[in-house]
Amino acid sequence: MPLKIAIVGAGIGGLSAAAALRLAGHHVEVFEKSQFLSELGAALVVAPNGIRVLTALGFSCENARSKPQSCFELRDGRTFDSVASFDLTEQRFDAPLHTMQRADLHGELHRIATMELPGLPDIMLHLGRKVLTVEPAAGILHLEDGSSVEADLIIGADGLHSILKPLVLEGHPQPPFKTGLSAFRFQIPTESVRDDQDYVSLVAKKGHGPSILADTSDENTAVHMVWYDCQKKAPKITKWPLNIHKPITHWTRGKVLLIGDAAHPVGLKTPFSVDVVA
Ligand SMILES: Cc1cc2nc3c(=O)[nH]c(=O)nc-3n(C[C@H](O)[C@H](O)[C@H](O)COP(=O)(O)OP(=O)(O)OC[C@H]3O[C@@H](n4cnc5c(N)ncnc54)[C@H](O)[C@@H]3O)c2cc1C
Repeated sequence: MPLKIAIVGAGIGGLSAAAALRLAGHHVEVFEKSQFLSELGAALVVAPNGIRVLTALGFSCENARSKPQSCFELRDGRTFDSVASFDLTEQRFDAPLHTMQRADLHGELHRIATMELPGLPDIMLHLGRKVLTVEPAAGILHLEDGSSVEADLIIGADGLHSILKPLVLEGHPQPPFKTGLSAFRFQIPTESVRDDQDYVSLVAKKGHGPSILADTSDENTAVHMVWYDCQKKAPKITKWPLNIHKPITHWTRGKVLLIGDAAHPVGLKTPFSVDVVA
């Protein structure tokens, strides 16, 4: 029997869940607090397991401006020689690995969630509608605009700072704790490095896929990454403090189910959460 399902959050997890549940014949409404104007421009790796799920939902990597990658490699940051390489060709995992811009991934998920499918109900996507709280036993959402919505199932896909998570944990929030480590993220337009000799030699050697450049002169393997000179050409550098979240004891309460970062946020050892939420 088709259920009435309300999803809180139209991020990567919320839109993927909406598309999958509509394919199963359910009536899905998604409540998103933002207007989608500030999707982060980070680059993401989507591993073969994630690609298999996205493909089944009708996701087009071509629309997301992404081509398959054939390897994931570790290279010596000084010589660019190969240290280790992981074969990611399609034959091995039944699907390729892709890299894509987060905004493109989100844009394509938005397309598949909002397209009409003959014989299936439309997904109702409400932007600018913030959920303030829910009643897990009754399955009722209360929104900032004063309205309330009743559903058979409420999916909390409201990300790292989920408001549904403390309700599911019944007032025993398990906040993240600091590792003291940070990651740095930056993107450089190809035009800024096209004539750079280091870039030219790296491109001549590297395989077709993401590469990690290791500082092999550094004996501390925990910080074995190259803080490469090209960061000087980066228009913007973002620092991400790395926090650890203990696994939460349960993901459901009453009619509420947590998914994505609300249930198992990206942590020091779980870098590929898109694949988990998809
Ligand atoms: C810098 C960075 C790099 C990453 N790199 C990778 C990578 O390479 N590969 C990978 O697989 N993963 C990566 N991840 C992790 C991945 O981006 C997340 O795991 C994934 O986006 C989680 O999706 P989500 O839908 O659970 O949450 P989100 O994408 O955060 O979406 C939550 C949504 O809920 C909405 N919302 C929140 N509260 C409310 C409310 N009260 N009412 C209504 N709407 C609400 C928000 O506006 C948002 O749209 C990275 C994450 C970061 C931060």
